[in-house]
Amino acid sequence: MEYKSSIKPTLIIGGGISGITAAVELAEAGREVILVEQKPYLGGNVVKMNNYFPKLCPPGCGLEINFRRIRQNPRITYFPSSTISDISGSKGNFSVSMVTSALYVNDLCTACGKCTEVCPEERPDEFNYNFTKTKAIYLPHEMTFPMKFHIDDQYCKKEACNKCVEVCTNNAIDFAAQAESQVLEVSSIVIATGWRNYDARKLANLGYSSSENIVTNVEFERLLAAAGSGNGKLKRPSDEKEPKEIVFVQCAGSRDENHLPYCSAVCCSASLKHALTVQEKIPGCKVTIYYIDLRVTGRNEDFLKKVEENPNITLIKGKVGNVEKNSETENLIVEAENILEGKKIKHTADLVVLATGIVSNELPLNLLTTQDGFLSDDQQEGIHAISCSKKPMDVSSSVKEATAVALKAIQ
Ligand SMILES: Cc1cc2nc3c(=O)[nH]c(=O)nc-3n(C[C@H](O)[C@H](O)[C@H](O)COP(=O)(O)OP(=O)(O)OC[C@H]3O[C@@H](n4cnc5c(N)ncnc54)[C@H](O)[C@@H]3O)c2cc1C
Repeated sequence: MEYKSSIKPTLIIGGGISGITAAVELAEAGREVILVEQKPYLGGNVVKMNNYFPKLCPPGCGLEINFRRIRQNPRITYFPSSTISDISGSKGNFSVSMVTSALYVNDLCTACGKCTEVCPEERPDEFNYNFTKTKAIYLPHEMTFPMKFHIDDQYCKKEACNKCVEVCTNNAIDFAAQAESQVLEVSSIVIATGWRNYDARKLANLGYSSSENIVTNVEFERLLAAAGSGNGKLKRPSDEKEPKEIVFVQCAGSRDENHLPYCSAVCCSASLKHALTVQEKIPGCKVTIYYIDLRVTGRNEDFLKKVEENPNITLIKGKVGNVEKNSETENLIVEAENILEGKKIKHTADLVVLATGIVSNELPLNLLTTQDGFLSDDQQEGIHAISCSKKPMDVSSSVKEATAVALKAIQ
């Protein structure tokens, strides 16, 4: 790569809201930036949300403006579908090996969608947590940035089918494309690789693998979303019926020595947000949230007030011990204890949402981690870990961390 300035660029690994923020802040302060994202699109986990607190606006609110800032800033070079395999050197002079997967659809794509219309192959849509399917050539989601189609190697028959190539008038599809490796010379590195959900299959007592109607909190975002599995209508997965009774299980795996010993910081606010959104989608739907402690801070306390005032939402202090499916009705029996009243409860629901915690995304790099598996603050000089790669936090705290690290990287 050729660089425009005498100071080597800053590398940012991870194109979620934190990486994007760090990139635009650095570039607007005059520094060159290279932004590397493993997925074909930028936006990270936020782009998959139905809405986000505290204002409950759609993810486009915060992201669109940042995508425009990236598009308009020649100091930012971004590489989607790319990962980092090695880092060597020291502050001011790092050499970084980057691999970009084969890009069968190039930048001539105008996202017209003719290819998808003729594509005969289907794939599970990971963006919607496999609740829906897309064609093997697909637009990852409606806000995809960079806005172009993508081909799933595993399902596309390539030259043996060739139908998409035949209809693409822009010559944007090339099955001869190969994965590419290159070495980047950079001055500093920001790691913003974020989080993934704790694997709910490990919570055997909460029955995740036994019923389609037991979903995680991130899956619930896609059940609510306009472009999600119900096209904006909340339906339970097994039979597409509108749920009338929903139970939320807080701390599903979090604050539990057998799973995640720490608090995941955002799950309480996320479930309060979900409970209020359910009332908008299905007025009168009964929602019960079982919690150990409700941990909400700052502006999210308003949610708690709104939830407490809503006659259709009940908050019960008590840990859920078991969730089982009634095979005839597909309904779920939630066993819990109401700690304040000292009563055991058997609660029947049509849908159960597990507020599963956050774990750090793993990297194939030699970086220092904390005992909880997040990246440590004490990395080699010139390498800065930020936001959810370091500990669970919400978008506003992530944006603050990213802005602060931009200043550190400049210094
Ligand atoms: C159920 C739920 C609901 C939530 N709702 C809200 C809400 O309403 N409001 C709010 O403020 N917060 C909410 N949060 C928290 C919010 O999602 C995080 O604050 C936010 O995602 C942090 O952004 P990030 O960029 O640090 O990480 P991420 O969003 O995880 O982005 C990290 C990016 O790095 C990429 N990456 C990972 N590994 C690599 C690699 N090796 N190479 C290249 N790229 C890589 C990933 O693909 C991803 O694009 C919620 C969290 C949960 C669990």
